[in-house]
Amino acid sequence: AKRTGKGQVRSFRPALEDEQKERALLTARLRDAVAREEIVPFYQPLRELRGGRLVGLEVLARWQHPQRGTLPPSEFITQAEESGVVTPMFRSLLCQVCRDAVHWPTDLRFAFNLSPQQLQDPTMAQEILLLAQEGGMDPRRLEIEVTETGIVRDVGTARRNLAELKAAGVTLALDDFGTGYASIAMLKALRVDRLKIDRSFIASMRSTPEDTRYVAAIIALATTLGLGTTAEGLEDEAAIHAVGQMGADLGQGYAYGRPSPAVTVVDWLSPHLLL
Ligand code: C2E
Ligand code: CA
Ligand code: CA
Ligand code: CA
Repeated sequence: AKRTGKGQVRSFRPALEDEQKERALLTARLRDAVAREEIVPFYQPLRELRGGRLVGLEVLARWQHPQRGTLPPSEFITQAEESGVVTPMFRSLLCQVCRDAVHWPTDLRFAFNLSPQQLQDPTMAQEILLLAQEGGMDPRRLEIEVTETGIVRDVGTARRNLAELKAAGVTLALDDFGTGYASIAMLKALRVDRLKIDRSFIASMRSTPEDTRYVAAIIALATTLGLGTTAEGLEDEAAIHAVGQMGADLGQGYAYGRPSPAVTVVDWLSPHLLL
């Protein structure tokens, strides 16, 4: 900054330019990180609410940064989406999951998060199916989680992609349900198989018991439409019990296990598989 004639401080506003440079740098670093497989899949258990059987794992990206340690998606997903790196990142994660899965039971399913950008890519579905085939992964073991915001932009392309995945046996889940713009018409048009109840609803159930009715309403909607329901953010036995009573079929949350690296997954498999 320098002094103007009137004695005020005038900034040179280098901020914008710096910010652009910083973003370009982060994009380049992210690209590198993907190429070096520093972006790795962490896994979080998806369990049957009745009985607790492990049926699947949600794949959650982590950046194993050589200097900064393990970074959560909040540190890099937005930039990956805005720069288009999210597509090679997804490919890399899918390939790593196929490799990890070789060591686990063949009925274990994998849930992947898809960015809105990916849904707008007309070749997305084909690409996923091809990678799965190359990795020896039956597409019927894949679940794709999309958010409501990911769909509203271009319903046509999103719908074609999802229809193609579904035709190959991939399960479609609507993530963070209840927090965005999903309509009944959208559920109908996209033929989703499952709703994931956003964890904010589960959290508010604990602080405000009346809020339980919102969770009950979502589960009732899903059940009426013949869809499965996954409750996320289950942090204690009480939450597991409550959503199970209301008719949700699957659960996910710290009570069942935190997102963890591949080596931890063996600890979650049923004891007879370890013998
Ligand atoms: P999400 O898809 O809603 O994933 C669930 C998030 O909730 C995860 O955060 C998980 O660690 C957290 N979580 C799970 N159980 C509990 C619980 O009991 N309590 C609390 N407080 N939190 C819980 P995470 O791993 O930080 O991921 C954040 C978001 O980043 C994800 O939200 C998803 O939208 C996005 N994301 C993660 N991996 C990928 C990816 O590979 N691709 C894309 N496009 N997005 C991803
Ligand atoms: Ca998700
Ligand atoms: Ca979610
Ligand atoms: Ca989310």
